[in-house]
Amino acid sequence: MTTSPVLTFHDGNTIPQLGYGVWQVEDDVAEKVVVQAFEAGFRHIDTAKIYGNEAGVGRAIERSGLTPEDIFVTTKLWNSDQGYESTLKAFEDSLESLGLDSLDLYLIHWEQPKQDKYVDTWKALIELQKRGRVKSIGVSNFTTEGLQRLIDETGVVPVINQIELHPFFNQAELRAFNNSLGVLTQAWSPLGQGGELLEHPVITAIAEKHEASPAQVVIAWHLALGNVVIPKSVTESRIQENYAALDVTLDPEDIQAINTLDRTAEGGGRIGPDPAVSDFA
Ligand code: NAD
Repeated sequence: MTTSPVLTFHDGNTIPQLGYGVWQVEDDVAEKVVVQAFEAGFRHIDTAKIYGNEAGVGRAIERSGLTPEDIFVTTKLWNSDQGYESTLKAFEDSLESLGLDSLDLYLIHWEQPKQDKYVDTWKALIELQKRGRVKSIGVSNFTTEGLQRLIDETGVVPVINQIELHPFFNQAELRAFNNSLGVLTQAWSPLGQGGELLEHPVITAIAEKHEASPAQVVIAWHLALGNVVIPKSVTESRIQENYAALDVTLDPEDIQAINTLDRTAEGGGRIGPDPAVSDFA
């Protein structure tokens, strides 16, 4: 079986480029599907406190028989836990739910610029890393302004910025900014949450050419761009299919054609909230 390439963070740690996300997966279902994901070959799991399934992910890890060294686990600090002391506590709660002694990657889930606690929150993540509780620290849904401010005020650069990114919203500008800072880009909703994108004629034609599925073509596009990518499915055959996207190699003209599908945020590109203005608990 092909194994996922690994990318190296600026802190020297590595992350499997293809991972498995569990947003909107009930805790007991998470236990089942994460085991299936491990069986399919995935070794990188993306969860968050707000998903309510850290415990299910933890039970899956235990059941799998894999050791912490074999796998890569990310979880995220929820908005209402932002702030220095509350972050330190929320982190320990997440680790306990996961049943782990330390974590591979901890992310601030949203910048929440109106709340304006993200610099203090970041200082807590820096402290957790110093204490050896977490190997690497990063952010999710951060704007260029938010990233720059973290760096200006603490001198510590996040290893990754996990953002909404799919062919309808390819985030060329933010990817370039992340890259200029040595920050990896991680794509959430990488398949555009399924539906229209996977039926688009440009995607289906490339899929036919490579005898691959549309989802595999989109995942292969992310991998070719250098994104860390975390597709979700709760259907075992699709979990396997998504992992097997590692065997699909697109031609330069395929990548070019998929790049042209980009839309503006307001013109049908963005699915989720805009991190520059989002403010939710
Ligand atoms: P996604 O783009 O991965 O799409 C998932 C949906 O696509 C599935 O529910 C299914 O309907 C369809 N699908 C999956 N595989 C398929 C296949 N092989 N063939 C056909 N259809 C298929 O959407 P997502 O779950 O929103 O994003 C993936 C992960 O990103 C999440 O699980 C989560 O870990 C992460 N995420 C993070 C944030 C954040 O704010 N940081 C936000 C959303 C998602």
